[in-house]
Amino acid sequence: MAIPSRVYDRKGKLIGEFYSERRTLIPVEKIPSYLISALVSSEDRKFYEHEGVRYSSIARAVIKNLLSLRYSQGGSTITQQLAKVLFTNQEKTIGRKLFELFCTNEIESRFTKKEILEMYLNLIYMGHGNYGVETAANYFFDKSAENLTLAESAMLIGLLPNPTLYSPITGLEYSLIRQKKVIDAMTEVNAITAEQATAALKMFQIQWQISKKESGYLSLIGNFPDHIYRINLAPYFLDEIKQFLLNQYTQDVISKGGLKIYTTLDVDKQLVAQKKIKDAINKQKEYYRQMLQSAGINEKKSIRISEAIERTNGVFVSIDSKDGAVLTMIGGSEFSSRNQFNRSTKAYRQIGSLIKPFIYYMAIKEKKITAATILEDSQVKEGTFDYQNYDGKYDGPMTAYDALRRSRNTIAVKLLQSLSIDDLQQILARITGNELAAIKERVPHELGVALGTPQFSPMEVAQAYASLSNNGTSVKPYLLYKIEDADGRVIWQKPEERKEKVLNSDAAFIVVNILKGVFQEGGTAGWVSKLQSDQNLIPFDIAGKTGTTSSFRDAWFAGITPDEVSIVWLGTDYNFSLGEHHTGGALGAPVWIDYITSNAREKTESHFEKNFTLNNITTESFCAESGGVPINNTSCPHQNKMAFLTGTEPSFFCPLHKTSSEPSR
Ligand SMILES: [Zn+2]
Repeated sequence: MAIPSRVYDRKGKLIGEFYSERRTLIPVEKIPSYLISALVSSEDRKFYEHEGVRYSSIARAVIKNLLSLRYSQGGSTITQQLAKVLFTNQEKTIGRKLFELFCTNEIESRFTKKEILEMYLNLIYMGHGNYGVETAANYFFDKSAENLTLAESAMLIGLLPNPTLYSPITGLEYSLIRQKKVIDAMTEVNAITAEQATAALKMFQIQWQISKKESGYLSLIGNFPDHIYRINLAPYFLDEIKQFLLNQYTQDVISKGGLKIYTTLDVDKQLVAQKKIKDAINKQKEYYRQMLQSAGINEKKSIRISEAIERTNGVFVSIDSKDGAVLTMIGGSEFSSRNQFNRSTKAYRQIGSLIKPFIYYMAIKEKKITAATILEDSQVKEGTFDYQNYDGKYDGPMTAYDALRRSRNTIAVKLLQSLSIDDLQQILARITGNELAAIKERVPHELGVALGTPQFSPMEVAQAYASLSNNGTSVKPYLLYKIEDADGRVIWQKPEERKEKVLNSDAAFIVVNILKGVFQEGGTAGWVSKLQSDQNLIPFDIAGKTGTTSSFRDAWFAGITPDEVSIVWLGTDYNFSLGEHHTGGALGAPVWIDYITSNAREKTESHFEKNFTLNNITTESFCAESGGVPINNTSCPHQNKMAFLTGTEPSFFCPLHKTSSEPSR
C-alpha cells in the first residue's frame, strides 16, 4: 500500500506531505456545460446515442492487433475509458480489452449518461498526480472546475489522451495545439460559434500570459505553490528537502514509501517570518506603485518600475547559533513554478555594512582599538576615490562604539587601512565555511571591502554571525536530523560535524556587546530602544547590524539573540534601487523585531554571556564623548558600559567633564 512520506519540524509538527495522487470530487451539475461539450465533441461525438461501445472501431482495433500481435490502437468511447479506469489495470492485452467491453455494457445498462459523465470526469487521470477535473482545475488554473472558462476547459480535455505529453506545465507547446483541436471540434459540431472560439482563445492567451521565448513557451499556468507536496507549510525549505531526497531515493520511495523525515525547521517561527517578510515586500511594492503613478507618461521609466514591482523579493533565514540548525527559511517573495530560486542560499549580493563587525573584530583583537577609542569621521580617499558616509556628512571624533553602531563608513575604511586584507580573507573564509581561494576571488585587495562590496548569500552571512555570537565557534547550517523508513528504522542520520574555533571568544564577545548599541538611541535601528524598555516584550539580549548597499539596492539586517541568528534581505532581482532612505534599518530591522516579539517566540530571559567562555574580559564605564573614565558616576552626562580586553580599558579620566554634572545624592 502506498503511504505518503511525511516531513516534520523540530517539534514533530507535520510541515509537508508528498502526495502520490490526489482526488477532489465535483458533482456533474457544477461542471460547466462547455467542458462536457468539449469532452463529447473531441472524444466521443456519439456518446449520447450509442450504447457504450463503438463496435466498428473496436473490431478495427482487434483486427489490427491480431495482425501486429500487440494492441496499440485506441478508439475508446467515454464509457469504455471509464470502464478501463474502474475495472482494469492499464496493461494493454486483448483479454483485458474484452473484459473492458463487458464492463462497458454493464455500465451503460446500469447508469444514465449523466452519471457516466460524472464518474468519468471525477476519475480520469489528468497528469502530475491529479485525478478528475476538479483536482486538475485547481492544479493548473488555481480554481474550481465550476469556474473554468471555455478555453481552460478545452485545454484540460485536450490533455486527456496523454496527460504527460500534453501537460501545459511541461509541454505547453503541445498543450496549446491540443486545446485548439478541441475548440475546433466544438466549432465543427456547432457547440460554439467560430467567433466564440476565437475570442475564448484570445482571452486565454492574455489571461495566462502565454508568450514564446527562445527557451520555449511560457505561461502562468500551474504557477502556484509547489504541487509536489500536498501539505507544504515552508515551500523553500521543503524544496531543499525534496532536492536532498531525490538525490538519495527514487520518486516512488519518496511519494509512496512512507518515509518520516525529521527536520530542523521551527514551523511556528517560519509562519511568522513568512508573514512578516511578505508584508515588507508588499509595502515595497506599494512604494513602487506610487512611483509608477507619478512616472506619468514616461514610458521607459514606467516599464522599469513595473519590472521592479514584479521582481521585488525578500529573504528571511534563521539558524540556531549553537549548531547551525536552520529554523526558518524563506528564499523569495513567493514560491511558484516561476519563482523557485532560493535566494537565501543561492543569491550572492553585496553585503554592505554587514561586513563591518568583522573589521572591528580584527581591530579589537589586534588591540588597535577598544570600544572607547576615539576615531575620526572625516574624509578618506583611495587614489581619486572618495569614501562617503551614507548621509554625506562627516561627524568628527567619536568612540569606536558609536562608529560601529552608527555604521560610519569612513571609519570602517580607515580601520581596514590599518589591517591586513589577507587576514580578513582568512577570517571570512573560516566563518562562512568557504575555501580561502574562493574567498580571495570574492574579496579583492581594495578598501571598498570595508563597506561590504564583496558578495555573500544570506545563509553565509547567517553562518558568519552565528560564529560571532557563539564564542567564535564554527557552525555549518543544516536542515535534516534523520530519516526513518515506514517501519521506523533510521535510514539516514546527520553526520557529526567537527566544530572549530574560528574567532577569538573575547574579541567576538566585545563586538556582540557593541552591536547591542545598534538598538540604543543614536544607533542605526535606535527606534527599537523604546520597545526594549518593555522587558516583557523582549526579555532576552538582542544585538544587530543594518546594511544598505549603494543606491539603496539591498536592505540587509542581521539580528542576533543568545540562541539564534537571523538574516533579513530585501531588494529586487535586477538591482533596482529600493528608494531613498529605504535602508536596512528602515526595511529590514522592523521585520526582525516583529519576528522576535511575536507570540511564536519563547519569552524567557537570556543573555549573550551564556554563549561565551571568556578569558580576558573586564567591564568598564566610559564617557560617550571622550572615551575617558568618568571621575564619578554622574560626572559625564552620557556614559557607556562596555567590555574590554583586560589591560586595554581606558586609562585616563574624562578631560571634558571634570566636575559632577549633577549634585551627588
Ligand atoms: Zn566625559
